[in-house]
Formats: sequence, structure tokens, C-alpha cells
Amino acid sequence: MKKTRIFKIIDEKDEQLLEAAEIIRNGGTVAFPTETVYGLGANALSAEAVDQIYAAKGRPSDNPLIVHITTKEDLEGLVEHAPFEEALMDAFWPGAITLIFKSKGTVAARVTPGLDTLAVRMPSHVVAKKLIELSGVPIAAPSANLSGKPSPTQGHHVIDDLTGRVDGIVIYEESEVGLESTILDLTQTPPMLLRPGGITVEAIESVIGKIQIDPALEKKMSDGIQPRAPGMKYTHYSPEADVYVILGSVENMISKINSMYKESNQTVGIMCTDESKASYPYDHVLSLGSRDNLEEIASNLFKTLRKFDEIGVDIVLAEGYDTLGMGKAIMNRLNKAAGYQVIKV
Ligand code: AMP
Ligand code: MG
Repeated sequence: MKKTRIFKIIDEKDEQLLEAAEIIRNGGTVAFPTETVYGLGANALSAEAVDQIYAAKGRPSDNPLIVHITTKEDLEGLVEHAPFEEALMDAFWPGAITLIFKSKGTVAARVTPGLDTLAVRMPSHVVAKKLIELSGVPIAAPSANLSGKPSPTQGHHVIDDLTGRVDGIVIYEESEVGLESTILDLTQTPPMLLRPGGITVEAIESVIGKIQIDPALEKKMSDGIQPRAPGMKYTHYSPEADVYVILGSVENMISKINSMYKESNQTVGIMCTDESKASYPYDHVLSLGSRDNLEEIASNLFKTLRKFDEIGVDIVLAEGYDTLGMGKAIMNRLNKAAGYQVIKV
């Protein structure tokens, strides 16, 4: 067990961030807020530091990490140039997109086990930026959850998962985007989407034209297609409850969910929208927000999955979404949470 220091900060000027940065510089692990989800950071240049991330999360050691930086100059020392990098960085950095480059091998090999590429992101969150600056090193940081749990979007999720397993936890506001970053591989031509996230395919294509989509994203893993982003083969985001996605017109989803609810003799939770909530007159019904506001739906998804676990339901019946815009990332995470148990209606 580690002694975990909790830094509840009031803003990015809070002096406690100096202590958190010192922990990183000394090779320790610190969880911190970003605009996507909370991350668990360590010095990306130190193998011993990076090893502690895998240990704290119980993360499979072949699942590579994203390195976080604050300036374009930081990028220079880490990776080779790639097509479209300037346009993408100008349009979306700092922000919720991770870009994959050919690595210069500067970071510890444990960051990208067995790969010659490196995933890099420049977060926009003021606290994340300040912590990276104060640390003075690139920070390797996956989501700050125990491996297999939904990514944390609020400080208490991190405290629940990682107390005793990391050296520090910086607590600030809720993560705004609420889903992990988009991952775009610039070593492929045209660039390939490996994970949908906070920056949509439509937004990327409006800047650099048509991109490729990793075929594994469109299929179930059981179809035998290996995803290119190594970590994508693991069932992330799994709550304790058995999740089913019901997908179809809103009217059909409501009627199917109602009939499934009535037929079940287990404790059932329903994950719906503001528009449909009144159609489910039961105990454990949680809305993600308005169906007209997919950013809101995305930002509430993980914390709502965790809430169902807190309530202790056996089954979650979740309404599905069209895969346009943010809908693509929402459905990707929902499908994974459900282990691809999707009922089309
Ligand atoms: P997390 O930080 O937990 O959201 O996970 C990071 C994910 O980024 C991994 O699971 C991989 O899917 C992906 N990733 C990181 N580095 C690379 C890389 N060099 N090539 C392909 N995918 C990567
Ligand atoms: Mg993760």
C-alpha cells in the first residue's frame, strides 16, 4: 500500500500543484484532471515511473500509454514529423485528440511496449497544463481508473479506485468532455481513426479531408478483427451490472425497454434521455441528458454507469444513439460497456 496524498485544489495557481509536480519529478504517480477524463500520470522518460502506472491500474503491460505535453517544442524531441500534423495541431490542440507519430525513442520503452510509434496529446485543461509545466517532463498518462472500470470523470471516482495505489491525487472539477480522447494515427495514409472521442470524425475531415476508420471499430471483437490500437481489444468501461444496448427508433426503444423491464425478475436500471424519462415510471431510471445534446450525453455516460453500480442493479438497459458526430464515440463506449450485447429493434 502506498500513502496517497490528496490535493484538493481551488485553481491552477494552487501551491499544492508544486508538491504534485515534485512527486512526478521524483518518479512517483499522480492522478490529475483533464478535459477528457482524469489521468494517472508519471514521468514518461523513466521506466521505473512508468512501471508504477501499470501496477497501480492493474493494466495489461502490452497496452501503450499516451504522452501529455504542453508545447509544440515538446513534440520535437519525442517524435518524427507526420503528414497533416500542422493543420491538426492548429485546429484541435490543445484539446481532446491524441495523434500518433513515429517515435524517436526518447520516452521509456515501457510507454509503448513493442511499438515504434508514440501517441501524444496536448490537453487544454488548465490544471493538467500547469502540472505538466511544473513537472518539466512529458507525462505518460492513461485514464485514472482501475483497469476494466469506467474512466473517472469526477475526483471521487479516482479516490475510490486508486487510493493506496498511487502517490498523489489532484482533485478539481468534473471532466468536461467525459470520454477519452479521439485517437488518430498519422503514420497511416490517409490518417486512421483508432478510437472515436471528444473530437468528431466530421470535425477532423473538415480540416484534412477523408480519413480511414479502423475496421475493427465497426465490428465486434468476436468477428476476429484485431484492432490497431492495442488497448482497444480489452473490454474497458465495464460496470458490474450486465449492460444491454437497445438500438432503434426512440419509440421502439421505449417499448422494448418497457417489455424487458416487466419480464425481468432482477433489479433493472434504465439509462435514458430527458425526452424519454417519463416513459419509464420505475425506481432506477437515470437520464444522460437531452438526445439533442450529444456532448451532454457523452459527459454523463461514465459517471452514470458508475452510479448504477453504486445502486447495485443487476442489469442496465441503455437506449442507443445514431453514430453521427459525438454519437460515434458514445456508441463505441456503450457497446464496450455492454460487451456488444446490442438488441436492434
Ligand atoms: P487510455 O490512456 O487508457 O485511454 O489508453 C490509451 C490507448 O491509446 C491505448 O489503449 C491504445 O489503444 C492507444 N494507444 C496508445 N499508444 C498507441 C500507439 N503507439 N499506437 C496505437 N495506439 C496507441
Ligand atoms: Mg483507459
